[in-house]
Amino acid sequence: MTLFQPVRGMHDWLPEEAERFTQIVERARRIACLYGFREIQTPLLEKVGVFSRPLGESSDVVGKEMYKFVDRGGEELALRPEGTAAVVRAFLSNHLTEALPFKGFYAGPMFRYERPQKGRYRQFHQMGLERLGDASPWEDAEGIALAARCLEALQIEATLQINSLGDAPSRSAYREALVAYFETHRSRLSALSQQRLDQNPLRVLDSKEPEDQEFLSHAPTLTVFLTPEARCFFETLCTALQTLGISYQIQEHLVRGLDYYTHTVFEFVPSSGEGGTILAGGRYDHLVELLGGPPIPGFGWAAGIERLLLATPIKEEPVRPVAMISVGPFEAVAYTSAQLLRAEGHMVEVFCGKDLGKLLKKADRARARYAFVMGAEEQREQAVLVRDLDARTQEHQPLAALQEIARRL
Ligand code: ATP
Ligand code: MG
Repeated sequence: MTLFQPVRGMHDWLPEEAERFTQIVERARRIACLYGFREIQTPLLEKVGVFSRPLGESSDVVGKEMYKFVDRGGEELALRPEGTAAVVRAFLSNHLTEALPFKGFYAGPMFRYERPQKGRYRQFHQMGLERLGDASPWEDAEGIALAARCLEALQIEATLQINSLGDAPSRSAYREALVAYFETHRSRLSALSQQRLDQNPLRVLDSKEPEDQEFLSHAPTLTVFLTPEARCFFETLCTALQTLGISYQIQEHLVRGLDYYTHTVFEFVPSSGEGGTILAGGRYDHLVELLGGPPIPGFGWAAGIERLLLATPIKEEPVRPVAMISVGPFEAVAYTSAQLLRAEGHMVEVFCGKDLGKLLKKADRARARYAFVMGAEEQREQAVLVRDLDARTQEHQPLAALQEIARRL
C-alpha cells in the first residue's frame, strides 16, 4: 500500500511550528484587542460570487487561483482565497449594518492554487482585520499603525509602502492615460500584460514578468490624476502617519491585485528585501455595496502567517515538564500525584516501567526539569525522590508534602 502524502502545497504543522503559529496570532490578537477589534470567524467555504464579484474576474486570485467546485446539491462553492470579502459577507448576512463601526479580527487558512515555493503555498494562513463604517483617513492611519505595532511585537523589520488609488473619477482618468501609454509599447509587453491591458489596465503595473519592467518604471503615475478630494484624503493620511510616528515610502506604482480597493493601499515588505510582501491592505469604499449592502466604507489588511514565521526571530522556549516516574507497580500513586501537580499548574508526563535508568532517559528526552521517582523504597517510606535533572541533585521528601513541593518548584 502506498502511503498518502499531503496535497501539493499543503502542509502538516508539527508541534514546534504549530505552537509558534499560535503564539504569533496570540500576540497580534492582543494588540488588535487594544484597538477595539473583536474576533470573527467565517466558514472556509463560500458561494463563488462572494469572491468573484468584489475581487474581479480578471484578478489573479479569482481568474487563476481560486479553488472552486460544485457540491452535491449543485451549488458553486469556493474555498476562501482571502478574508475580506468573507467578513463583509458575514457583516451583511448577520445584519450588522446598524451597529457601526464594525471591527473584526480573524486568523485562519486561505486557499489559492498557486505554484508552491518558499513562502507561497496552496493552503496558507492569514490573520487580518476589517473595519467597516469609518470614512476618515485617520482611521486608515490607525489601522496601519496597528499593523506596524504587530510587526514590531514580532521583531520584524519591514518597510511600509503606501499609495493612493484615488476615487472612481481619479481612476478612470488614470486608466485612460495608462492605456494610451501601454498601447504604444503593446507588442513588446508580455502576453499576460497584453491581456491585462484589455481586461484591467491597472493590473499591468502588478506584472512580475522581466520583459515588462522597463515599461513599468516609465508608466504614468496615478498621483497626477487624483481629484482634489482624493488628493486631500491622501495628504491627510500622510500627515496622520507622520503624527503617529509611522515612517513610510510613497510607492507610486503600488496598485494591489484586487478590484475592490479605493484611496489607500499599502504593503509592508521585508527590509532585508528577501521574501515577498508580509502584510498588505487598504481602503475599500465600495465593497459593501458590491456585495449587495448599503454604501458603507471599509478598511482592512491581512498578513501571511507563514511569511511572518519566516521573518520573525522570536522563538519561545517550550515549557519543560515534570517527569512522574513509577519504578514497579506504583502507577496508582504516580498518576494521582501527576494530577495533583497539574492542579498546581505544572506540566507533567508520567513514565512507568521497571528500569529507573531507562525511565530517566525518557524524562531527559522529554526535556524534563525535575523527576519525581516512586519505587519500592519510596512506597515503604511513604516518600518521593525528587531529582533535579539539571543540577543532578536529589533528595527524599515525604509524599504528603507533594503539593507543597510542587508550589515551590
Ligand atoms: P503576492 O504578491 O505575494 O502573491 P498577494 O498580493 O497575492 O501576495 P494578498 O492577497 O494581499 O497577497 O494577501 C495578503 C498576504 O497574504 C500577502 O502579503 C502574503 O503575506 C500572504 N499570501 C498571499 N498569498 C500567499 C500564498 N500563496 N502563500 C503564503 N502566503 C500568501
Ligand atoms: Mg498573489
